[in-house]
Amino acid sequence: MYNVIEAFKVHIMPTHFKVLAELCEKLEETTKRTLMVNMVADFLKTLKSEEVEPAVSMILGRAFPSWSQQTLEVNWTTLGEIIRRITNVNWETFTSAFSKTGDIGSATKTVLENSMLKRQALLFAKTLTISEVRQNLEKIAETVGHGSREKKERIVEAMLSSASPVEAKYLVKIFIGEMRTGFHEGLMEQAVSKAFQIPINDVQHASMVLGDIGTVAAIAKAEGRKGLLKIGFKVFRPVKLMLAQMAGDIAEALREHGGKTAFEYKLDGARVQIHKQGENVKIFSRRLTDVTESLPEIVEIVKRNLKAEEAIIEGEVIAVDEDDNPIPFQHLMRRFKRVHAVGDAVAAVPVKLYVFDILYADGQSLIKLPYNTRREILAEKIGDIPMPVQLVTDNLEEAERFLKEAIDVGHEGLMAKKINSDYVPGIRGKRWLKIKPTLEPLDLVIVAAEYGYGRRHKWLSDYYLAARDTETGRFLTVGKTFKGLTDTEITAITESLRKLAIKEEHRRVFVIPKIVVEVAYNEVQKSPKYECGMALRFARITRIREDKTPEEADTIQRVREIYERQFLKKGKIKLQNKQ
Ligand code: AMP
Repeated sequence: MYNVIEAFKVHIMPTHFKVLAELCEKLEETTKRTLMVNMVADFLKTLKSEEVEPAVSMILGRAFPSWSQQTLEVNWTTLGEIIRRITNVNWETFTSAFSKTGDIGSATKTVLENSMLKRQALLFAKTLTISEVRQNLEKIAETVGHGSREKKERIVEAMLSSASPVEAKYLVKIFIGEMRTGFHEGLMEQAVSKAFQIPINDVQHASMVLGDIGTVAAIAKAEGRKGLLKIGFKVFRPVKLMLAQMAGDIAEALREHGGKTAFEYKLDGARVQIHKQGENVKIFSRRLTDVTESLPEIVEIVKRNLKAEEAIIEGEVIAVDEDDNPIPFQHLMRRFKRVHAVGDAVAAVPVKLYVFDILYADGQSLIKLPYNTRREILAEKIGDIPMPVQLVTDNLEEAERFLKEAIDVGHEGLMAKKINSDYVPGIRGKRWLKIKPTLEPLDLVIVAAEYGYGRRHKWLSDYYLAARDTETGRFLTVGKTFKGLTDTEITAITESLRKLAIKEEHRRVFVIPKIVVEVAYNEVQKSPKYECGMALRFARITRIREDKTPEEADTIQRVREIYERQFLKKGKIKLQNKQ
């Protein structure tokens, strides 16, 4: 009898979101990986086919599958306001709950549990199913344009008002896209393998090609191993990008790649993955969003040049001046933001495409081929589209000259690509290494700091870095970073900063400018974010300068000089090229 009821439940009854939330709560409580995998596998087995992908996505903290172009656009300030509204607590109660855990989901659970309205909420609760949660998430994502913020808020509010504390906790985590249960994608692959009894290698391969473990799980449930083995690249379904790790210098790159490697200019632009089928071309950004509409001239170039009926290629789009010389990255970003006035932007910010990889052509996956073979195939197919200049060498001096040359012509540095390496989607590995010369470091003063999140929530770990204005004597912020210090240094600096505190605003503490740190960065950008109009890109603290006083720190005038010098360098390129 029991089995009949269970079987009935499995086949007919939709699964409640509460079951998923409670599973996540259990995942959060344990660090035992095998236990986690088993719990998730058992849960996956009970789901209806159409629930599998949404459930897998949600357990990983995603509202939608990774390849989806849909986004919720619900920020955590809005969420905070809604939570306060439905629970009737004031800002301090909420922030103090938040400060205790550093986790907005847990804070939500706490305030809901303590809220006066708790009983009412539970009494009137309409239990959401996993499918209903997904439908609501879709409604939120589809709400765009005038008045959309309010409409989104209403849907979120309705979902949270009828949710129990534990459901609300995980709904909030899905809204902001951060689960923090320790159950990551790799473990999910194992759970899918276990639940549907498919070898892990097949699951991993399918996940790599499809770019989404939820979709893989759904196919595994519906069609089993046979279904997964059929999976191949599909044009217009973006593939996760292969990424690069940073190498300290050229010598390290050569060493990592066994003495000899292929260096390419590292272009400072935006990564694109281009899909073509017949006359149709789509361009996806680094985050796999469809940016085709922002780049009409690139679409034309690809249509004209790419010799394949179907193909997936990758490259970099860079902004150029009227003489085709690279200009700073931020000009290009303006272009991406102006999708609605593309016509004007095309004229204002000309762009140029360089291609450097090919993943698929006319029914054949090419990712298992070695890098140099892929590059040869690409060269045969791309007509007049340029590829980044390449040097294959085992010679350190030659490679260093190549790096200097790359910088001199206005590029960012070099990429080192292991010659016999395959293309591994979604992996930031050592097959590709990036080498960027850093600019001369600056000594800056910490003027404020914020408490971190998660593990760092009790530490002042995010620092506002300032340079002195010699004209007014004021310290002006030029950057913010949480990178570079060890846990011990952060603990010590938190102590020192607390003693220097002038005022506290939410999670930010303003301090007397006293502590000097040495900061490395890759570029000085023009930015409206700070009063001085500039911001350091990729700032990271390299050491604490206990030997320096704030008066000896670098000045705003010096930062401006460095900023201007970047252009001077680019200006020089122009002259050289014209000669
Ligand atoms: P990063 O964004 O610092 O992680 O550096 C990796 C990025 O450099 C890639 O995602 C590309 O957008 C970009 N890039 C520039 N030139 C190349 C190249 N020749 N090969 C691969 N990636 C490149």
